[in-house]
Amino acid sequence: AGAGVAGLAAIGAAASLGAIVRANDTRAEVADQVVSLGGEFVKVDYEEEGSGGGGYAKVMSEGFQQAQREMYAKQAREVDIIITTALIPGKPAPKLITAEMVQSMKPGSVIVDMAAEQGGNCELTVPGQAVVRHGVTIVGYTDLASRLAKQSSTLYSTNLLRLTEELCKAKDGVAVVNMEDDAIRGLTVVKDGAITWPAPPLKQAPAPAPKAAAAPVAAKKSSHGPGAPMSAKTLTIVFAVLAVLFWAIGAYAPVAFLGHFTVFVLACFIGYMVVWNVTPALHTPLMSVTNAISSIIAIGALVQIAPPDAGINGRPDGLILWLAFAALVLTAVNMFGGFAVTRRMLAMFRK
Ligand code: NAD
Repeated sequence: AGAGVAGLAAIGAAASLGAIVRANDTRAEVADQVVSLGGEFVKVDYEEEGSGGGGYAKVMSEGFQQAQREMYAKQAREVDIIITTALIPGKPAPKLITAEMVQSMKPGSVIVDMAAEQGGNCELTVPGQAVVRHGVTIVGYTDLASRLAKQSSTLYSTNLLRLTEELCKAKDGVAVVNMEDDAIRGLTVVKDGAITWPAPPLKQAPAPAPKAAAAPVAAKKSSHGPGAPMSAKTLTIVFAVLAVLFWAIGAYAPVAFLGHFTVFVLACFIGYMVVWNVTPALHTPLMSVTNAISSIIAIGALVQIAPPDAGINGRPDGLILWLAFAALVLTAVNMFGGFAVTRRMLAMFRK
C-alpha cells in the first residue's frame, strides 16, 4: 500500500523473492513503475487524480476512500503479507487497513506498517512495537533506519556524495547552485541574499496510458516478441508467396500431395495464431493441453485392434495387437497427464 520510495523498494525485493506482488497507490503515474519492478497495479474502482505534485499524493475524496476501503478489504482476505507505506507529507498517515480487515486475514499473516511513526496505515498498529492481533502479526517499528544502521549510513552518505557531485557538476570542485535543477532548487533556502524558500511546486509527471495499468502482462510484450502483430506489408508478402507456391504445387504435384499440403499450411497458420496470441506465461499449460489433443493417435490404435475389414480378413496378428495396446496405454497417459498438468498450471494463475 503506497508505491513511493519505500513501497517500490518493497515491491522489488518481494518480487525478486518470487512473491506474487500487488500494489496500490493514489497516484496513477506509479502504475508503470510497479509493473516494471514485477508487481501488479491494483486500481481503485473510482476515477480521481491522486497526485498532489512533486511525487507526493493529496488527500482523496470520501467517495474515493470508500471505494479504496472496499478494494483493500477484498485484498486483505487473499494476501499473506501487507506492507504499508502510504503517506502524505505533513499529514497523519491515512488509515487504509481497518480492524475488520485484519480480522479477515489468514492466521499467521503479517502486516509491516512502515508509516507507524505518523500513526500507521493500520488501525491496530502500535507504534514502536510488533503485536499480534486476531492471529496477525503487525510490525509497527518506528526505528527501522536504526535497526539497519550500517546500511542506512551507507545509503545516506551515498546520497550526500551524489548531491555534492551534482552541486559541483558545472565546475569541478566548486559548488554552483543551479536553480534550474529540481533537486538543488528544492533544498535551497537562501541565494544571493534573497530567501528562495519554499520552492515552486514541481511539474507533475504525466499519468501513464490507461492500457499500461489495465494489462500489465501485455505491457511486457516487446514489439518484436511474440504477440506483435504482422505489419500489412509483411502479411501481403507472405500471402503472395503462399499463392505462388500453391499455384506451382497445383500445376506440378500429384493430387494427393495437394490435400496433405493444404492441411499442413492450415496447421502452421492455426499453430502460429494460437501460440503467438497467448501470453508467454501461459505457453506451458497451452503446450500440455495441445499435447493431450495429439493423443488422437488413440484412434489409430483402436483401428488396428479392430480393423473395419476384420470380418473378411480375420483378426490382426498378435504382435500388431500388442503394439496397438501399448500405443493405447501410452496415449492414455499422455492424454490424462496433459490435462492434469494443464489444470495444475492454470491453478497457479488463479487468484
Ligand atoms: P513516499 O512519499 O515516497 O511514498 C508514499 C506513497 O504513499 C506515495 O507514493 C503516495 O502517493 C502514497 N499514498 C499516499 N496516500 C495514499 C493512500 N491513501 N493510498 C495509497 N497510497 C497513498 O514516502 P516513502 O519514503 O516511501 O515513505 C513511506 C513511509 O515509510 C513513511 O511513513 C516513512 O516514514 C516510512 N519509511 C520510509 C523509509 C525509506 O527509506 N524511504 C524507511 C523507513 C520508513
